[in-house]
Amino acid sequence: MPQSQLPDLNTLWLKWMDNCNNCLLKQDYLGAIASVFHINAVFGSDNRIEFNTAKYNELIKEQMKILCSHCKKETNCDGIKFYDLLLSDIASMLTNEKYIKVWKCPNCNTTNSHKDTEFIKETFARPRYLGVLPDPPEQSFGITGRRGFERKARSWIRLALDEISYSLGVERREYIPLLERNEVMDDVDNN
Ligand SMILES: [Zn+2]
Repeated sequence: MPQSQLPDLNTLWLKWMDNCNNCLLKQDYLGAIASVFHINAVFGSDNRIEFNTAKYNELIKEQMKILCSHCKKETNCDGIKFYDLLLSDIASMLTNEKYIKVWKCPNCNTTNSHKDTEFIKETFARPRYLGVLPDPPEQSFGITGRRGFERKARSWIRLALDEISYSLGVERREYIPLLERNEVMDDVDNN
């Protein structure tokens, strides 16, 4: 995007931000949601937010990690296969089990017993800017439907505006070096 477009973009952003705020004051949530889409459309493709509930849920879901008792390396549980290992007669007699559930550490190849494995839960917490947001809530009818929609719309808009202000900051920062670069080039040309 050429730098001359920045003032126009600022005007557009302000216009739709204003519109969004006015809609919120009037409790026009559909209008506010529409404004969010308008604000987002002003961004360059790199900073434009993607609306995709499945992708968003995938990004924020808790991740389980598994700790190898031998090399102490944490591995994502998603890539680990558990399988049953047939025990020797003696081990079987001692544990009163025929099999034990095990997994193999991809880092050091050690076989770990599932029973003695430590699992680590990792949760992604906001604020963390992902460039992805869930789709907006859909309007529902009836009194309870409407209240549910309003509540969901308010929290969606809050989340969206948070993500948008982050993208705005990035988009503006990307312009500054470009402006400075052009000024330097002008100086070189003038000398
Ligand atoms: Zn290991």
